[in-house]
Parts: sequence; structure tokens; C-alpha cells
Amino acid sequence: MSDAFDLKGYEQSIERRARDLLSGAKNFKDCWHSVSQLYGLAEDTLARHMDPVEQKHIACTAGCGTCCAVNVAVLLPEAAAIITHLKESMGEEEVAKIIARLESLYPRILWLDDDDRVLLRQSCAFLTDQGACAIYPVRPLICRSITSANAEDCREAIAFKALGEERTVLINLFQKTLMDATFRGLGAALAGLNLDSRSVKLTVAVWTLLQEPERMAAFLQGEPIPCG
Ligand code: SF4
Repeated sequence: MSDAFDLKGYEQSIERRARDLLSGAKNFKDCWHSVSQLYGLAEDTLARHMDPVEQKHIACTAGCGTCCAVNVAVLLPEAAAIITHLKESMGEEEVAKIIARLESLYPRILWLDDDDRVLLRQSCAFLTDQGACAIYPVRPLICRSITSANAEDCREAIAFKALGEERTVLINLFQKTLMDATFRGLGAALAGLNLDSRSVKLTVAVWTLLQEPERMAAFLQGEPIPCG
């Protein structure tokens, strides 16, 4: 990680930007617009400050999907962005498949902790049959934070986690801390706007808002969303 990078200042700038963007948000599309801008800022910052040597050691590629079997925490505007992406940027057949997977997955993971979910091999509803992320442009910050220097280490770590054992996976620490700071900045902005700033499981948040889209307007007016 670059020693000169001001992580606290970055997090505060994300909070300010998120607060500006979300203060006038009225619907799913506004949230998608706001979150997409924040994702863009985070990715630009990552590209500018990531050590090129460290970059070369990232082994993650499309078609792996090994780590897409854990619970992913999202903030509600992130879930709204995914729903907008499904409706605006994807084909009907693909969306129907995803909705069917969400419907099936939701009751199976609702009360599962991370270990049990891995043990029961409940992969993400957005993971395609080819092992790619179907919502890559709007994938959540937590997904963006995870990298690996060795794909085999990930497979081993997941296999051992299912047995209750922890294995270390070498990740890019700068990417993780940057995306985590973005997540905290967005959460702080929501709290500052008196909006529900709790993190929710990805499947639960998206499924709840798909089933009850009227909750989005309520969320933007400061009401908490009952998720699970
Ligand atoms: S949203 Fe995409 S990257 Fe994140 S767990 Fe699901 S498939 Fe993987």
C-alpha cells in the first residue's frame, strides 16, 4: 500500500460525496446513479494508487467464482443499484434466471452464518453457470474488496472452512482497505442523512426490495427496511 495514501481523508471525501449524491435521491434509479458514481471514484482511486507490482500478483479472473459462496454484506443503495441494473441493462431471460435463483436461495441462506453457508455450498444468485458475476458493473463493495494472489489457496480455504478450519489467503491489502473505507464512507453518509445504514445480506436485501419495491421510497424517507 502507498504510505502516502490518506485513507481517512479518502473515507471522509466519500462520505461527503455520498451525502451530496443521496440527499436528493427519490427512487431506485437515483440510488443506482449515486452508487455507480461512488464505485467509479473507488475504482479510479484504486487504479491510481495500487502498486503495479502488487497488481501483477492478483490472481482473480472472470470464471473463477470460488469466493462467491459466502455471505456478502451490502448497504441498501447498493441493493437498489443492482435491481436497477437488472431492469435496465440485462435481458429478460437472464433476469428471469437470476430472480428464480434469488427466490430459491433466499429462504436457504436467510439464517445461515458464513461457516454454515460455505458448508452447505450456497453460491451467490448472481454467479453464472460459467463462474462469472452477472452484475459485475454494480457488484457490491465487499465483492470489490476481495482479491487473491493464488486461486488454489482460495479453493483450499473454502474447502477447509466447510470443515471448520481457517486457512490464510494472501490478498491485496490496499484494495481491501480502500473498498472497506468506501463502504464505511457510504454508511456514514446514510447515517448522516438519517437513512437506514445497516448492512444486510446481499440476497436478502435484493430479494426484499424486489418483492416490496415500495420500501425504497420509504427507505429514502428515513424508514428502516425490515430485512429478514
Ligand atoms: S455479487 Fe458477483 S462478485 Fe459478489 S458474490 Fe455474487 S457473483 Fe460473486
